[in-house]
Amino acid sequence: MNLSFLTAEEMIRLMESGEMTSLSLVERCLDVIREKNPLLNAFVEIFSEEACKQARESDQRRREQRLLSPLDGVPCAIKDNLLYEGHITSCASRMLENFTAPYTATAVQRLRQAGMPILGRLNMDEFAMGSASESSFYGPVRNPLDPERVAGGSSGGSACAVAAGMVPLALGSDTGGSVRQPAALCGVVGVKPAYGTISRYGLVAHASSMDQVGVFAHTAQDAALLMQLISGGDPLDMTSDEGLRFTSLPKAEPSAITLALPAEWFGADGCTPCPGGEAALAFARLLEKQGARLKTVSIPSLSEALPAYMVLSCAEASSNLSRFDGLRYGHRSGESRDLESLYSKSRQEGFGDEVKRRILLGTFALSSGYQDRYYLQADALRRQLIQQTAEALEGSDAILCPVSPRAAWKLGQKPDSVTLYQSDLYTVPANLTGLPAISFPWGLAGDMPGSAGLMGHPEGLGTILALAQLAQSAKGGTENG
Ligand code: GLN
Repeated sequence: MNLSFLTAEEMIRLMESGEMTSLSLVERCLDVIREKNPLLNAFVEIFSEEACKQARESDQRRREQRLLSPLDGVPCAIKDNLLYEGHITSCASRMLENFTAPYTATAVQRLRQAGMPILGRLNMDEFAMGSASESSFYGPVRNPLDPERVAGGSSGGSACAVAAGMVPLALGSDTGGSVRQPAALCGVVGVKPAYGTISRYGLVAHASSMDQVGVFAHTAQDAALLMQLISGGDPLDMTSDEGLRFTSLPKAEPSAITLALPAEWFGADGCTPCPGGEAALAFARLLEKQGARLKTVSIPSLSEALPAYMVLSCAEASSNLSRFDGLRYGHRSGESRDLESLYSKSRQEGFGDEVKRRILLGTFALSSGYQDRYYLQADALRRQLIQQTAEALEGSDAILCPVSPRAAWKLGQKPDSVTLYQSDLYTVPANLTGLPAISFPWGLAGDMPGSAGLMGHPEGLGTILALAQLAQSAKGGTENG
């Protein structure tokens, strides 16, 4: 498959030089989408006419020298769990198949305020629960690097769309790794900023204490450009934080960097990587050669992060998803006899298996008699992890992380639920702690792209982006990793 693409920065230059207009860029992207989407299934809906109109408006602004932002005119797309007024937002679920958003998510609003044409909504795991984008009501997303393989999840459509050159930038959401893991499997950059950096207003809730909007891009610079436009406080989301607004990408000087390597992932000697950790370690070694200091740290709670995440995220999801009752939102069963059966039949028909499994697990973890054993214990583990991670970050600029324990697997292989949950082994700590984290291509994982990850200080998004940029200037790592 031809995977030629333009980065957002290249598009900006082409518009500045007058070689291309926003309209010609949007049309070029739409051509790629028309050609590749029937196979890859990244887009579940394409907003062709509207995007062309938005591009023409951008071109008009450029002629009048009143551009709204550096990304004015650059095409993008959004995950199908972000509300966009007047458009369907389905969370890739039968439950919301015909749900038209009554208002626009702040992150999406900011794309529009920046003048970016929105080309469509992107496929995902149903209600953002999964790691393969196979549980979508619209069918699975395929990996553009090898269409026989999964694209990762839950923001598989976003990762695929960027990797396939359909759009240079896309929004996703990350509750336990849903931006970073598909980015790793498709060979692009995925960023989950610190909790509170981007407003969650209009993002359909999965686990509210961990949900964050994130971005997909080809380069750290592109991701930084987008982050500048969509980050920052929002009166409509109490948990958003103006202090976390991302303003500019700093330069990383390797000799001034100290990287923490958790012994739980890279061995007590810092040389024994866990499965999937080889590429990250190779990246750290390169930084070391350039003068960075590597330091082994211990974060014992890392081994309990995944079970804690599962309990907490399922508990929150079971509560969040109780609003889909067949009365106020979404699918309503035509076969109910009374109110009780209206609720149960609508939910039974509207939700897929994975969503039901999580609602059951979460309801159980919160039920009386079990709350202390599951929910409260998981919450205590989370607090321990927050403390230990903060200690590990003291005196370091970032923590080195693997991203995915394995490369993209064959579509339809359907690993059992527990194996699938283990995809999140290395990504959930950033969600439990609320820290910013990034995944970027580095080296190889078999014949698929490898990836490395970083987790930063609460206000250290710039540092991890700058380090990812260093990886890029070392030529993507395929030769070096
Ligand atoms: N794979 C994780 C899960 O299934 C991540 C979900 C997410 O980040 N939205 O819970």
